Amino acid sequence: MRRKLVIGNWKMHGSLAANAELLAGLRAAEPFVCDTAVCPPYPYLAACVLALQGSHIALGAQDCSAHEQGAYTGEVSAAMLADLGCRYVIVGHSERRSLHAEGDQLVAEKARVVVSKGLTPVVCVGETLAEREDGQTESVVKRQLSAVIHALGHCVPQMVVAYEPVWAIGTGRTATPEQAQAVHAVLRAQLKAATSHADGMRILYGGSVKPDNAASLFSQPDIDGGLIGGASLKAADFIAICRAAL
Ligand code: PEP
Repeated sequence: MRRKLVIGNWKMHGSLAANAELLAGLRAAEPFVCDTAVCPPYPYLAACVLALQGSHIALGAQDCSAHEQGAYTGEVSAAMLADLGCRYVIVGHSERRSLHAEGDQLVAEKARVVVSKGLTPVVCVGETLAEREDGQTESVVKRQLSAVIHALGHCVPQMVVAYEPVWAIGTGRTATPEQAQAVHAVLRAQLKAATSHADGMRILYGGSVKPDNAASLFSQPDIDGGLIGGASLKAADFIAICRAAL
């Protein structure tokens, strides 16, 4: 039985004061039945480490460099994130893929570096609306995941996968539980072909998850929790989503 995981992706939102209030709200609702994590913007990670001391809410980052260290102005390494106390690093979010031209190989390399530092990459895959309408959903997510599977080798079981249909992110348009489950089953089968530990791996759904649709999504057999954007910025909503992850 896989324990569910709910991760909040705060994106480029927040302030010291707003983050402190949000985390205080989440901490007041602990314990959760699922594993939980929040991914604040880089500048706030250190303050969030302090605010989460003694909490079971883990910390993650929204991205990292594919490089180990060096002259890469503006980049943040996986080693630095590990040093700070992060457990998760999101890689391949569709906003990185589309707005920053990150391709499958770069995402795979980031996942490899994250694993090499003892952290868990949360590898995002997902099709655009045009790709879905063109019947390419399966081939797109398989291609994206395949690059990471090859890069991780025997470390494949150390990643978390997040299926995030691009057309559902921040749009209020959620995949139906059946649509999401169908893709999760494809991803699980691909993981099974790569590792004997696939049944223990978590595949999250992301894309306009809200308190009122979380339970039906999370009740699907291959949906092991969620990657939550907008709704992770409101303590009451994020708490309700975590409580739906039984
Ligand atoms: C996300 O950005 O990963 C996401 C799922 O966003 P939202 O929940 O706002 O659709």
